[in-house]
Amino acid sequence: MSEFIAHDALLGAGCDSRGPVRITHDDGRITAIEPLGARPAGPRRLVMPCFANAHDHGRPLPTVAFGAVDKPLETWLLRLAVAPSVDPYIAACASFGRAALGGSGAVMMHCTRAQGLNDLPTEVAAVARAADTVGIRAAFAVGLRDRNPLVYGDDATIRAAMDAETRPVADRYFNVPNQSIDAMLESVDACAEAVTDRDLDVQYGPTGVQWCSDALLAAIAQASADTGRRVHMHLLETRYQREWADRQYPNGIVQHLAEIGLLGPRLTLAHCVWARDDELERIAESGATIAVNTSSNLHLRSGIAPLRRMLDTGCRVALGLDGSALDQDDDALREMRLTRLVHADRGFESWAGHRDMLACATSHGRVCIGAPGDGRLAAGQPADWLVLDLARLQRYDLVDNPIPASLFSHTTAAHIDQLWVGGQPVVCDAALVNLDIAAVHDELIDQYRRRWTDRRPLQAVWSDIEAHVHGWYQQSGCC
Ligand SMILES: [Zn+2]
Repeated sequence: MSEFIAHDALLGAGCDSRGPVRITHDDGRITAIEPLGARPAGPRRLVMPCFANAHDHGRPLPTVAFGAVDKPLETWLLRLAVAPSVDPYIAACASFGRAALGGSGAVMMHCTRAQGLNDLPTEVAAVARAADTVGIRAAFAVGLRDRNPLVYGDDATIRAAMDAETRPVADRYFNVPNQSIDAMLESVDACAEAVTDRDLDVQYGPTGVQWCSDALLAAIAQASADTGRRVHMHLLETRYQREWADRQYPNGIVQHLAEIGLLGPRLTLAHCVWARDDELERIAESGATIAVNTSSNLHLRSGIAPLRRMLDTGCRVALGLDGSALDQDDDALREMRLTRLVHADRGFESWAGHRDMLACATSHGRVCIGAPGDGRLAAGQPADWLVLDLARLQRYDLVDNPIPASLFSHTTAAHIDQLWVGGQPVVCDAALVNLDIAAVHDELIDQYRRRWTDRRPLQAVWSDIEAHVHGWYQQSGCC
């Protein structure tokens, strides 16, 4: 039995500030939370639920490292292919380590590109070890796709227009033969088998409807029903995906997901920036979760998600950092603040948004990640929490500001003092307890530099491929 004393705590479903408390915990669970009559001595700390990053990809470094910056998704994603492969354990340690320092105690890793230096189950086992090393909870969705590798539609004309130097390189990297559907589903089984002794939730990760045939999505829906595994996928992230979906599925892309049995409580849909009201109502009825990624949507020029409509229609909304936080730093506190500001009413707003945002950022994402508990700080819940340094947070306050005023005006990861997961310290004094993140980043950058020329052919013709893809979207009006 251990105890933790804080000057203030955000408790219960509403994350209400309740003053000084003593939290006792045992074997990874909170056993009691008692109010204290007087302010305790010692450092001034605020304890609150930790964040659950409901949509991310476990990328080893911020994507600016690879020159994937200031581009729409349709070329940004292709650009990432210039990066060589690195050790998956070190890569995941870096990603999970940054997530923990940014306030996330649980992280979704939708693996859309495996490192590929080992077979996939071995790589997933390395990811599970990395989550254990850092000390966070994690889920791993196995990326699955079988169509539209270069653009959303027939890419024959674009390939034909490429010169003799570019075309074979584009084919090598963006026209890889697909595995059979059975083989893809078996690989997910094998990944789950590889981590049965670890606390990693393995899921199906179809990358998006535009990248997955109807047959593949239907097979995933059936496999999810058979196994109970969750499904994690992108939906309606960009205007081009919207246009493609409307042409491909005149009865509606969300209707399509319902018809093939994918739409339901086991499904997480990342983005939904371009979802319409009737589609949001359908998603809400189904019990699926939407993971909103505000910074990523701004960086990739995808737009602003209809978050208020999502909430109004009763969708369960979670927040994700999608490897593209505003400052490319995995800061979940800033992401929560930014999301509220972007979606606030104009003028004398009626939507404070504090409770909604805290629930989206800390509680709802746990469902997507398969993390235990509902994220609240309460007896019986997992001993997962974040500790902020109140002295620094309220350093300039001349008045007695309520906690939400501080939290939603300027709090960032720089105010994090500690992170606890399962009753164990993960971050202490603003540093990871079990990992030297600077050394991990040095090792990673060294590996990238040594292997950078592995993908020299693609790096050499990248600007030509980008120009062709750019032109295709501009001229063809897509699809
Ligand atoms: Zn994503």
